[in-house]
Amino acid sequence: MLDSAVAEAGNRATGVRAFDAIVIGAGIAGMYQLYRLRQLGLSVQVFETGSDLGGTWYWNRYPGARFDSESYTYAYAFDEGLLQDWNWREHFAAQPETLSYLNHVAERFDLRRDIQFNSRVAACTWDEARRRWTVTLEGGGQAECRFLITALGPLSAATLPRIPGVGDFQGEAFHTSNWPKAEVSFAGKRVAVIGTGATGVQVIQTIAPLVKSLTVFQRTPNWATPLHNAPITATEQAAIKANYPAMFELLRQTPGCYIHRHDPRGTFEVTPEEREAFWEELYAKPGFAIWMANFRDMLTDRKANAVFSDFIARKIRARVKDPKTAEMLIPKCHGFGMRRVPQETQYFEAYNLPHVSLVDMKATPIECITAKGIRTSAAEYEFDMIIYATGFDAVTGAFDRIEFTGVNGLTLRDKWREGTLTYLGLMSAGFPNMLTLVGPHNASTRCNIPRCIEQNVEWVTDLLRHMDAEGITRFETTPAAEVDWSKHIEELAGELLYTLVDSWMTGINRNVEGRETRRILQYQGGAPAYREYCDTVAAAGYRGLVLAR
Ligand code: NAP
Repeated sequence: MLDSAVAEAGNRATGVRAFDAIVIGAGIAGMYQLYRLRQLGLSVQVFETGSDLGGTWYWNRYPGARFDSESYTYAYAFDEGLLQDWNWREHFAAQPETLSYLNHVAERFDLRRDIQFNSRVAACTWDEARRRWTVTLEGGGQAECRFLITALGPLSAATLPRIPGVGDFQGEAFHTSNWPKAEVSFAGKRVAVIGTGATGVQVIQTIAPLVKSLTVFQRTPNWATPLHNAPITATEQAAIKANYPAMFELLRQTPGCYIHRHDPRGTFEVTPEEREAFWEELYAKPGFAIWMANFRDMLTDRKANAVFSDFIARKIRARVKDPKTAEMLIPKCHGFGMRRVPQETQYFEAYNLPHVSLVDMKATPIECITAKGIRTSAAEYEFDMIIYATGFDAVTGAFDRIEFTGVNGLTLRDKWREGTLTYLGLMSAGFPNMLTLVGPHNASTRCNIPRCIEQNVEWVTDLLRHMDAEGITRFETTPAAEVDWSKHIEELAGELLYTLVDSWMTGINRNVEGRETRRILQYQGGAPAYREYCDTVAAAGYRGLVLAR
C-alpha cells in the first residue's frame, strides 16, 4: 500500500519526518525520479549535498566542461513540450548551458519544493519490523521512508591523488569536480594540471591560452580525438525539433544510446586505401563517431585495434610540433577506445605554445606536493595554482561514502568489499525496498546517460506502481538472482579488450585503498538488451524478486 497516511502516522509516532520515498541526489536521475513518483501520488523527499540541483553539472563547473554527447541526444526525452521549448545553442553544450537547462526543467515541473539542499546523507538503516528506511543526514537530521532510491551518479565521489603533501600547498588548489562558483582568474599565473583524462583534456585546452605558464603532469596518455563542436543554426534547430521522434527511436536501438552506429564491415575487409579514407572521414566527424561508428571489430580484434591506433598516433604526430612531446602524448600501453576517449578542441596544439610543458610522471614521478609547488624525482616546480583533474572513485565510490545498513545489520560497503553483487544493477540482496539508479552492473554507466536514466527511473516507477496495485509492501531480490546477474555481467565483458586495461571503467583508482584490482562494473550487452531484460523481468511478475504483502 503506497499510503501517505501511513507515513504520516509514522511521523506522529516517532517525530521523524516520513515519506513514501526518499531519493538521494538531485542530478538528472534524482530529478526525473521525483517527477515520476509524484505522478504516482507518492510523498517524496530528495536530499542533495549541493546547494542546488544538477548533480554532475552542478559540481563540474571547471573551465571547458562540456558535453561529449550531442546536446539534443542528452536532454530528457519524456516530455514533448520540454523538447520543443528548449533551444540548445551548441551541438555539444558547455556546462553553464546544461545547468540552465536543468534549472529550466526544475522550474517547469516545480521540482524544487521537494528537494532539500545542503543535505548530505550519512547513513540509511533498514528497520525490518516497520519495513522502513531511516535516513540520517550529516549533522543529525533524520527522515524515514518506505522506499529508498539512490541517484548518486557514477562519477560523483571525487578523489585527490595519494601523493604526500597534498594539503601543504599554499597557493590555490582545486579538484575539477569541486570547482568554485566564483570566477577563477588565470591571468599571470603559473598553473599545474595533474591528470589527462576527459576532464584534464578539457581543462588544459581551455586554460592554456589564459595562463602565464602551464605544466601538465601526465601519468597515462589517452587517445583523444576532435569534438568538432559548433553553434546550432536556426535551420539545424528546426530540423532537430522536427526529427525528435526518429532520433529517439534510433537512440533506443544503438548500444550506448548515441546517434552513432558501428560500420558493419570488418577492418581488413576493405583495402588499406579505403580504410584510410574511411578513418579520415571519421576523424572529421563530430563527437564519438570515431569511437562508435568505426569498423565493427575495432574494439574486439587486437590487430584491427592496433592499425586504427596507429592512424590516430599519426594524427597526434602531425599536430604536435615537438616530436618528443608527441611521443609522450601517444598511449603505448592501451589501444584506442579501451579507455574513455576524451573529446578535444585544439588540445594537442596547446602543447605547441611556448609556455605549455608536459611532464611524464612515469619517467619522473611526483614525489610530493610542497608549500610552493610540486617536486618530482627530477625537478622542483613552483606554482600559483594546482588543478587536480584526478577523477573519481567510480560507480561504487559514492555508495561507500554512505553507511547503508540492511537486513541483520549487513552493510553494503562490507557486502560489496568482496565483490559487487546486484540484480539488474538496480538492487542488492539484503537491502529490501532499496533501488540503485545508475548503479553498478547497470547499462547506464556505459550509456548516453540520460537515456539509460529514463529507462531506470521508468522501470522503478512501474515496480512501485505494481506494488501499490497489489498491496505489496516489501521487495527484495534473491541471492540466486543476483549471483546469476553478476555472472552474466562478467560473461558479457569477457570478450572485450577494454577489460584488460586499467581505468575507472574497470574499477581502478589507486588513490583509494582496495581499488587496485580490476572489477567489471558495467553491463556490456548494450542498452537495448538491458532494457529488454528488465522488461522481461517485470512481465514475469518481477522474476528474481520476493514480493511480500
Ligand atoms: P579519469 O578519466 O579517471 O582521469 C583521471 C586522471 O588523473 C588520469 O589521467 C589519471 O592518470 C590521473 N591521476 C589520478 N590519480 C593520479 C595520481 N595519483 N598521480 C598522477 N595522476 C593521477 O577522470 P576524469 O578525467 O575526471 O574523467 C572521468 C570520466 O568523467 C570520463 O571518463 C567521462 O566518462 C566523464 N567525463 C565526461 C565529460 C563529458 O561528457 N564531456 C567530461 C569529462 C569527464 P592514470 O590514467 O594514469 O590513472
